[in-house]
Amino acid sequence: MSKLKEMNDLLLREHYSTLVCSYEKFQAQKLTLNMSRGVPGPEQLDLSAGLFDCLKENDYKAVNGIDCRTYGAVDGIPEAKELFAQVLEVSPGEIIIGGNSSLTLMHDLIARAMLRGLPDSTTPWGKLPQVKFLCPSPGYDRHFAICEYLGIEMIPINYLHDGPDMDQVEQLVAADSSIKGIWCVPKYSNPSGITYSAAVVERLAAMPAKAPDFRIFWDNAYTVHHLTDTPPSLLDILNACKKAGHPDRVFVFASTSKVSFPGAGIAVVAGSESNINWLKKQISVQTIGPDKINQLRHIRFFKDLAGIQAHMRRHAAILKPKFDLVLETLEAKLGGKGLAAWSKPQGGYFISLDTLPGCARKVVAKTAAAGVILTPAGATFPYGKDPEDKNIRLAPTFPPLADLKQAMELLALCIQLVSAEQELE
Ligand code: PLP
Repeated sequence: MSKLKEMNDLLLREHYSTLVCSYEKFQAQKLTLNMSRGVPGPEQLDLSAGLFDCLKENDYKAVNGIDCRTYGAVDGIPEAKELFAQVLEVSPGEIIIGGNSSLTLMHDLIARAMLRGLPDSTTPWGKLPQVKFLCPSPGYDRHFAICEYLGIEMIPINYLHDGPDMDQVEQLVAADSSIKGIWCVPKYSNPSGITYSAAVVERLAAMPAKAPDFRIFWDNAYTVHHLTDTPPSLLDILNACKKAGHPDRVFVFASTSKVSFPGAGIAVVAGSESNINWLKKQISVQTIGPDKINQLRHIRFFKDLAGIQAHMRRHAAILKPKFDLVLETLEAKLGGKGLAAWSKPQGGYFISLDTLPGCARKVVAKTAAAGVILTPAGATFPYGKDPEDKNIRLAPTFPPLADLKQAMELLALCIQLVSAEQELE
């Protein structure tokens, strides 16, 4: 319950004037800070500087002798398949190493389903009167952008503490054959930071689906991005699907975008051997082979799974103080006031903050007017429409600590200001 409700009109007006005064002081500072997108900061990028010189000019052969300088190996070099199969807990026959972006793999896979259908489709999705995806929300805006671009109708699904509301998901998927997919960011989800419980993973794997070609798009973008030494575990979805008798139900995606370099990393897609063999043929039409030099470079640099894990601990050492600062500032400025609630993630790139209903857009506009750009309000929902106008995605990774402190103090102030304005209306 908002503490503002306990103030009488006079007190509330006085409180509001004090807030306005503080806000004007912020405006006078002419800040120019941007915490809108979840990207690594420069000191994180420096951690991967070794990628520039770990490959010498005579080091161009993969373990099976293929020359990485030329075309071929459309599904990736064996050592990259081996390593990322370990990261995703699948077998090397269940993975394809793609180009530099997992989002491209997702986009192209769904575009193929629209154009040609999946192996178990009777009709290409694009020829059907309607195609729908379930979109657990708040979620990743770029997933929603793919659906919007391809004309796929999005159905928002609520998040509970351990993943999407499975009662809602099961009911919809069992009843409607036009529901062809669900987006999932199962570990440290973007932005709510949730890791799906084993029960949620098992229900997703086992639920009956009216569409025979229904798929789970399992975007495991933050699988190794822990902030603690005791990360929550996530059940292996591919195995769960096999056990439940739906081996082809899931496509799993990941990349090294936030491990090495965003835009210059490597992306992977995994699934049942039958899905992967089908996809490999499709990809062979699109390309004669991926950038195997970059794959080899990543192998030389990280060496093995332990190498990736050690590298991620170095990322965490940089990120943890930033997340702590955001959480401490929110607690210090807003704790106990009943004006906002926020996630306390154990990994990933985001903190999800909920204002009082009807305040998020105004808060984001107010911080922008004082020089701090946040992710646009609504971006975390399909069609950019947050039904309660309350969710704001905070991306603490890029700004230096000093900037982050100023940005968070301003944000906390704007939340108080907009909430007071609303109370006065
Ligand atoms: N998936 C999620 C959930 C993300 O948050 C991001 C980037 O923010 C991506 C995918 C993008 O990945 P990539 O760089 O591999 O395309």
